[in-house]
Amino acid sequence: MKVLKFGGTSVGTAKSIKKVKDIIANEAKSDRVIVVVSAMTQVTNKLLAASELAANGDESYKEITKEIENKHFEAIRELVVIDQQSGVIANIKVLLNQLEDILNGVYLVRELSPKTSDYIVSFGESLSSIILSKSIGAELVDSKSLISTNTEHGGATVLYDRTYKKIHEFFESSNSNVFVAPGFVASTEEGVTSTLGRGGSDFSAALYAAGSNAAELQIWTDVSGMYTADPRKVKSAFPVKFASYKEAMELSHFGAKVIYPPTILPVYKKGIPLKIKNTFAPDDQGTLITASADEGMPIKGISSIDKIALASLSGSGMIGIPGISARLFGALSRAKVNVILITQASSEHSISFAISPEDITIAVDAVQEEFAFEIQTGKINSPRVETGLSVIALVGEKMSGQVNVSGKMFNTLGSNGVNMRAIAQGSSERNISAVIEEK
Ligand code: ADP
Ligand code: ASP
Ligand code: MG
Repeated sequence: MKVLKFGGTSVGTAKSIKKVKDIIANEAKSDRVIVVVSAMTQVTNKLLAASELAANGDESYKEITKEIENKHFEAIRELVVIDQQSGVIANIKVLLNQLEDILNGVYLVRELSPKTSDYIVSFGESLSSIILSKSIGAELVDSKSLISTNTEHGGATVLYDRTYKKIHEFFESSNSNVFVAPGFVASTEEGVTSTLGRGGSDFSAALYAAGSNAAELQIWTDVSGMYTADPRKVKSAFPVKFASYKEAMELSHFGAKVIYPPTILPVYKKGIPLKIKNTFAPDDQGTLITASADEGMPIKGISSIDKIALASLSGSGMIGIPGISARLFGALSRAKVNVILITQASSEHSISFAISPEDITIAVDAVQEEFAFEIQTGKINSPRVETGLSVIALVGEKMSGQVNVSGKMFNTLGSNGVNMRAIAQGSSERNISAVIEEK
């Protein structure tokens, strides 16, 4: 079995879907294939925008649903053989009516819960997967019934054992050779629609690969692999031919948007090779991610995360007292604040941690509550937060043991007038990160 995932841009237009069809046909010559598909370009954004408008009592959400309808009807006309078109249009129309009903409900009650929002955005992948499966004559798979999650709507946690068991049984018992499954969507144990978070179709594909013990996972997108840096920001960036799972994980966590970070773990655990390929240039080599990725390059890439905030906890009462950092990160973890980077000066006088600006209020409240006594007695200062910062990270397996990689990085930043607010190196030495001003 092979799993092929096509992102929004790959199914952006009827023309691009034709390229997708060729790639699938080629792979299906030699193996069974599960195709995981995202919503057509911009459809997820449009669904979210329509939901917001409806919740705010703005009737123009109806214009957006009309645009979504037109986009899918056009794709059907171009991709599905004529004598099947009316059947597919009828299928799609049923879904579009359901979508309109639910948006109308949101409009009437002026309320949009994360649960309802998940249900609304799930239509993007439901629609694209029906059209693709009909246009290539593949069996449509119901991802909602195979992928199980908890009830954290908006970005739920997958229940792995249950999911893998269902995926395994499903593909064992089917005789088809080519399957199409919607990415991104799942359901809770009670059968309520959930989603895997923005960009989550990559993750769905990894779950299908791990659950079916696939020989390979291919992520097809609009660039020829994982680049040394974001190709939209850095003109001289180029695709790395090989990377290890660990390098790919670090790069994606630090902003390489080409792959959704949770994607790598399921295939890493099972040793399934992961390829990143370009739908629009299928002959380009792309990136191959496996356990070892010796290419002789100490640094695999430079990633960045824009818009971060740097919070610091400082005070004389922190010096030599065990357990301060455990309490700090315990409090942040209970408040569900994701910590991007941590640094502590060896004087132990202060600990800084980078978080997303959206989390500032929750993080500060959690820290203030945890250290209420110390703050009151002046042993620890109230947390300080700086915004308008970015993290830039150098990633590479071979960096460990190489003298002076960090020296070079800091020199380069310094001689270009970039001021560093904080620096962190993972003990794996696979990642050196610096917090800099966002400019
Ligand atoms: P898809 O719709 O196929 O899921 P995404 O838009 O999620 O595609 O991801 C692909 C995009 O990620 C590319 O178009 C590229 O601009 C961006 N990107 C950011 N960082 C990197 C990187 N390090 N390597 C490759 N692409 C990157
Ligand atoms: N359609 C979803 C999104 O835009 C999932 C994905 O494309 O991976 O976030
Ligand atoms: Mg993506």
